[in-house]
Amino acid sequence: MPKSRFLLNELYNRNQYRGRFAPSPTGPLHFGSLVAAVGSYLDARHHQGKWLVRIEDLDTPRTVKGAADDILRTLEAYGLHWDEDVVFQSRRTAAYEEAFLQLKKTGEIYACACSRKEIADSALHYGNELIYPGTCRNGIEPGKLARSWRVRVNETPIGFIDRTQGEITQNLATGAGDFVVLRADGLFAYQLAVVVDDDAQRVTDVVRGADLLYSTPRQIYLQRLLGMDTPAYMHLPIAVNAQGEKLSKQTLAKPVEKDKAGATLFEVLMLLRQEPPAALRAAPAREILAWAIDNWQPDAFSKCCQFSVE
Ligand code: GLU
Repeated sequence: MPKSRFLLNELYNRNQYRGRFAPSPTGPLHFGSLVAAVGSYLDARHHQGKWLVRIEDLDTPRTVKGAADDILRTLEAYGLHWDEDVVFQSRRTAAYEEAFLQLKKTGEIYACACSRKEIADSALHYGNELIYPGTCRNGIEPGKLARSWRVRVNETPIGFIDRTQGEITQNLATGAGDFVVLRADGLFAYQLAVVVDDDAQRVTDVVRGADLLYSTPRQIYLQRLLGMDTPAYMHLPIAVNAQGEKLSKQTLAKPVEKDKAGATLFEVLMLLRQEPPAALRAAPAREILAWAIDNWQPDAFSKCCQFSVE
């Protein structure tokens, strides 16, 4: 990546800080997502910035009825009050469509006819991820139908300086492969939607869990193709259980309790190594947050990608 790109990230206009929390409503807020909510909130408020909430309910098969509302009620119970109207991805299809058409017009994306099974059979592997081998890059085989749409990637390394994880570089060709922007079920993919929304909401700082660290080069790639600015990124350590698995609905993480806001916030701050004074242990959420905003120290967890909570 050219030096000027690094500079652009570094010099991002801090006066206009706009951060966001973007939960997927697949269930109630659990401890792992609370860490992302608190981290993004504290960073925004520490910089006198705005903090926005976006409900990522684009993946309708995974969306659970009532979960978005429950997440918002939990944020309120924890004193995490947002600015501006909550954005719902399910209502933003027209914006994704526009970005999709722009990529199509410039020839950056192509239709792919491969089924999941065909990809699994022929894919290259990168860690646990399957790398699409580019079968349909030069057109679909006669007699086959388009299923999804993929963006063409290349060997040019995409790099950025994460505010706590340091310099991250990825060659998308070997690390991610041509990735899906429009899924076989007709839904726009997370990678496209997140880029379009962060741009539309004029987000300057993305603070989220380190499980998304290696989604960032794909997002930066799309931002460049679409002529968008790249925000600054900070990836927080993710909470894992005793088996080293990320706390999530799949690993049966418990929902956070709405009536234990103070104690739970104290626990989040301890895990993020913010060293809250013991006197705050039994304090109300409002007081704990006020202390944490003033004393916010992201350097305390720099280069730390996970912490164990059980
Ligand atoms: N919706 C994603 C999740 O809940 C987060 C996306 C993001 O912060 O970019 O994991």
